[in-house]
Amino acid sequence: MKNVLRFSAIIFTCLFILTSCKDDFADLPTVEEIENVKTHDIVHRNCGTDKHMESLMEDPAYREAHAIKMKNFEKINSEISSRGACSTPTVLPMAVHFQGISNPNTSCLIALAQSQIDILNKDYSGTNSDISKWNNNASTYFPGINNGEACIQFALADKNHPAGFGLSDGQLAVTINKTTGDQSNAWNGYINIFVQANTGLLGYSPLGGNGNGDGVVIDANAFGAGSGCGSISPSAPYNLGRTLTHELGHYLLLDHIWGGGCGSDDGVADTPNSQDSHYDCPSLGIKTCNSNDMFMNYMDYVNDACMYMFSAGQASRMENYVNSSLQNVVSKAASVISGNNNGGGTGTDPDPEPEPVSCERPTQVSSSVLTSSSVKITLPAEDGAIKYRIRYRKVGTSSWTVRNFISPPYTITGLTANKSYDYQVRVQCPQGWTSFSAKKRFTTAGSNPTPTGCTKNLVTLLLTLDEYGSETSWELEKNSNGNIIAKGGPYQDGQNGKLIEKDLCIPDGCYTLYIDDAYGDGICCSYGDGSLELLDKDGYIIGESNGNFGTYDYIDFCVENNVFSAKANRTDLNIKANDGSKIQFN
Ligand SMILES: [Zn+2]
Repeated sequence: MKNVLRFSAIIFTCLFILTSCKDDFADLPTVEEIENVKTHDIVHRNCGTDKHMESLMEDPAYREAHAIKMKNFEKINSEISSRGACSTPTVLPMAVHFQGISNPNTSCLIALAQSQIDILNKDYSGTNSDISKWNNNASTYFPGINNGEACIQFALADKNHPAGFGLSDGQLAVTINKTTGDQSNAWNGYINIFVQANTGLLGYSPLGGNGNGDGVVIDANAFGAGSGCGSISPSAPYNLGRTLTHELGHYLLLDHIWGGGCGSDDGVADTPNSQDSHYDCPSLGIKTCNSNDMFMNYMDYVNDACMYMFSAGQASRMENYVNSSLQNVVSKAASVISGNNNGGGTGTDPDPEPEPVSCERPTQVSSSVLTSSSVKITLPAEDGAIKYRIRYRKVGTSSWTVRNFISPPYTITGLTANKSYDYQVRVQCPQGWTSFSAKKRFTTAGSNPTPTGCTKNLVTLLLTLDEYGSETSWELEKNSNGNIIAKGGPYQDGQNGKLIEKDLCIPDGCYTLYIDDAYGDGICCSYGDGSLELLDKDGYIIGESNGNFGTYDYIDFCVENNVFSAKANRTDLNIKANDGSKIQFN
């Protein structure tokens, strides 16, 4: 189901309109009918995309720019193979423009705009309250599929506003009756939301926005939630702010979840194919293409109350689009959003975040070879960094392997013994990516002889000492009988950075590897940079501790015939690693 991007999917503008267009264009409303319709008369979400696709692509400049953009996107989308946890979301500056509103209540409209942004941030981070419907129930219909928590945050700009809109520093980027249409070049670098009365549509967006003054159009009666402001009144069943969640998904290059039917995909690997859109509030378990339909996805057409999740694949796709194609918007954030509004607040936070610092190209990058198959890459953490990216390749080959990580150091595993590799690191900050560091090289160790007689379940323990080795020891406990089947330490003091490597050949079973510090201050980071890693015979990390614990930390795992697995949640021990580190699999 991967990346079968339909031509039409790439270039559509999506419209929600009030009657079916997909199957029968004769049912489309006339212009007069559109002008007379109110949003609360809209029975179903639906889409009139084909005609808009054709008209957009008639412009050669648009066509060419779009092709370049898609090429950049596909490159980055194929580079990224894993998602890390989100520590610092990428902030996108927003501006809301109310258009053609009679008797506007300014303060009410500003509050409504902020509340809509708050809804977006919950929906995109998977912290919406109704995500419980997915967690408690719907997810069982989609085994192996996770909901997505996009590492993206929306914030109304609150300083350095464009001239001519009567906005001063400290005020939110909300304009009332000062723009028309769906483009405002003065607001280049922002994601613009154009709120219009009685459009006859719920909304529309470019599929893959540019941040060049473009944005999303949304009907006044589908904007925000609650009681609204005069003529701007959220109307059921589109009164929970989800129309904008859906439309911004298009802006960040998400197609409708049903793609083009059972034989045509939405370009996201973990969204099941379905035949067509769903409406209203269907029951779980509907299948139109031999698998359960994910109609509760924000990119379907159900009512606001019945959509509550993106998939992890959709979240990745949006992040990749931001990284590849919206750096002009990302880089605008620092100059138009104060720390006061960095969490979607209202500009009155008494304890603002410090402004992000511009990242520097990494220079102090180094490697230390751990084993025949793993190497640790070290560099100083960069203030304001969102994430780091490393790429590496065997000397003499041309294609890079790419990994993202949230904070250094990073251990590369799965390498070939006795081979030289080139590597480079770059950093992403709110202003964008730095260039890659200068190319450097490491050579992996020769292969380790397998311990005599070990035919299965070889694990390698890698312990990096801190300054006080005399405080450090470890034990491997077999859970079924509590026996300690291997142990080591304490070690000599004054060996910060020294690597202790121990191969162990262990029977099938479940185990806990404990790392202890007798003084109770861990093995990182006050007196050196100690850590513990447990690798399988191919050099993949079974589990690790970053060394930043108190008295002890542990790694839980089970193994059977060389296959390692995470252990079920432990209830027998009332302990928890200080750093929360848990078994990790590649
Ligand atoms: Zn749509």
